[in-house]
Amino acid sequence: MSDRSRIIRGRVLTFTDDPFEAGSSARIYLEDGAILVENGRIERVGEALDILAGAPQAAIVDEYSGCLIMPGFIDAHIHYPQTQVIGSYGAQLLDWLHNYTFVEEQKFSDPAHCVRIADFFLDELFRCGTTTAMVYCRVHPQSVDAFFAAAERRGARMIAGKTMMDRDAPEALTDSAQRGYDESKALIARWRRRGRLDYAITPRLAITSSKAQLEAAGALADEFPEAYVQTHLDENRDEIELVAKLFPGTQSYLEVYERAGLLGPRSVFGHCIHLADSEVAALAASRSVAAFCPTSNLFLGSGLFDQARLRNAGVRVALATDVGGGTSYSMLRTAAEGYKVLQLNRQSWPAAQAFYRMTLGNARALTLDQHIGSIEAGKEADLVVLDSRATPAMAHRMETANGDLDVELFALIMMGDDRAVRQTYVAGAPSKT
Ligand SMILES: [Zn+2]
Repeated sequence: MSDRSRIIRGRVLTFTDDPFEAGSSARIYLEDGAILVENGRIERVGEALDILAGAPQAAIVDEYSGCLIMPGFIDAHIHYPQTQVIGSYGAQLLDWLHNYTFVEEQKFSDPAHCVRIADFFLDELFRCGTTTAMVYCRVHPQSVDAFFAAAERRGARMIAGKTMMDRDAPEALTDSAQRGYDESKALIARWRRRGRLDYAITPRLAITSSKAQLEAAGALADEFPEAYVQTHLDENRDEIELVAKLFPGTQSYLEVYERAGLLGPRSVFGHCIHLADSEVAALAASRSVAAFCPTSNLFLGSGLFDQARLRNAGVRVALATDVGGGTSYSMLRTAAEGYKVLQLNRQSWPAAQAFYRMTLGNARALTLDQHIGSIEAGKEADLVVLDSRATPAMAHRMETANGDLDVELFALIMMGDDRAVRQTYVAGAPSKT
């Protein structure tokens, strides 16, 4: 966090509501806007000349002529121990887990490795404009400590948790129902609601947790109702068949989690592709969140997320990269692939809705919208500066945008990635210096 006053000037764009519900009035756009940041928070936002006139003399002024300044992106589902298996060839979910991920994740018994990967991971998120993420760590508590310590050093708002898994994985990667409970509880005591950090109870998926361990996770959720819960759901057909075998007597995959007491408004379920109607209804009734992970779903051949079905049923939806099953840290690339997935389902997704999802929409899904997700006085100053002309091809494309903001935003999603990120501010401090 920077304690000097700073003015960030450019084309300010922020959403005030979901454009799907509220239409185009759900955003504020200032062609020559500015944001006054003090002590990591947004003090004022408005027309640049007004902000400059009223700012302290000693304020630093960062000028981004022509660039869009938006709230930092939020990624609702990502795995930090998978930075070195991203882009591994030729497998669907269960093989991918066993052949690549479970091999790689054993390195996290070494605390020095945890620190190195956590540092890389956070720097890469910021380089892509992502300032908050909901993160799976490893089964080893030191992987969680390393991640939270790295996030705290950077002043970042992050949610994370120790993966609980007590079966169907190499012995070095498993805990037990009791150890998973004890270690998670100790981590909750250390990190939950510490500064900008918060904790997610993280049973990896029903295949790798016994009934006893899922019940232990549910006991934690009961003891700490304000903690988050994150896990995977209905990603892959073989996975669903295996869950049905492992939990006889349950009617659906989600029912396994429901019986363990893991549904609720702070629970985020990754993927949610092959849902039965009863599962859709249970997600909606419990106010649980379904995380759409398009690059991962395409890469692992898992299936096509049906956003319209979930939205019509009243299910809360988030957008996420799911690195390393996902193939990009960039939320712009993720939204571009999301658009294509929805196209295959004959569903539309205008750019305004996608940018809303990456910012205020995901903040609401993670119940963080009182802190982040929009640019307004009092909120934390997590911001991304985007250049729609970052590459020759993008600049060439923008020649025909004719000043139409929606045309620009859509091309920015389709053609943009980390190269379009000019700067990222975390609690008011620039991450690129
Ligand atoms: Zn995942």
